[in-house]
Amino acid sequence: MRIGVFGGSFDPPHVGHLLAAQDAAEALALDLVLFVPTSAQPLKAGRESAPAGDRLEMVRLTIGDDPRFAAESAEVERGGLSYTVDTLRALRRKWSDDAAEFVLLLGADAAAQFPQWKDGDVIRSMAEVRVLTRGEAPGRLAEGMEAVPTRRVDISSTEVRVRVRAGKPVRGMVTDHVAAYIAARGLYCLTERQGGC
Ligand code: ATP
Ligand code: MG
Repeated sequence: MRIGVFGGSFDPPHVGHLLAAQDAAEALALDLVLFVPTSAQPLKAGRESAPAGDRLEMVRLTIGDDPRFAAESAEVERGGLSYTVDTLRALRRKWSDDAAEFVLLLGADAAAQFPQWKDGDVIRSMAEVRVLTRGEAPGRLAEGMEAVPTRRVDISSTEVRVRVRAGKPVRGMVTDHVAAYIAARGLYCLTERQGGC
């Protein structure tokens, strides 16, 4: 069983995440891709985010009943700062019966920060590390990393948050269920009474 591990703040998850996971799954012959929302990302410390429970729920809504993907709640349940090395250890225990091989999927931004990650060598000993190209030729990759071709989708969670705050639609950028969830919970509004919020 080959299992992709796709981590992020997913604040909120968008269709760029979904298509990247699909492309990586096909290119790398993955049986399953786990979306792993962080509790708190050590390198995004201090930044406000939607509550972890809401981000996990939006990941669940994004995946729906697609059998190729699953939401993994280990980091949200663990709380505190989320370190991938701890998560991989937990996943290895959880999937030990399936002789699982793990493939860590990183965006270019995450790959660039990888040298600052805790226990990078241990991570590399537990998982293949692959960098999503997003339609570009891969730049120089750190030792032990290889590129995986994925299409370019120019959507970021930052843009989705900015649009929600400005009262603009995010339809097509996030799944309909996520758009409805954001509206129902009033996520990403600075104040309660703002256009669209
Ligand atoms: P933010 O704008 O808040 O940084 P984001 O859109 O980059 O959010 P993250 O949760 O930070 O989303 O990203 C999780 C993972 O998905 C990272 O590895 C990131 O590189 C990757 N990723 C983000 N957006 C895309 C996209 N449009 N296509 C492919 N991969 C993406
Ligand atoms: Mg990002």
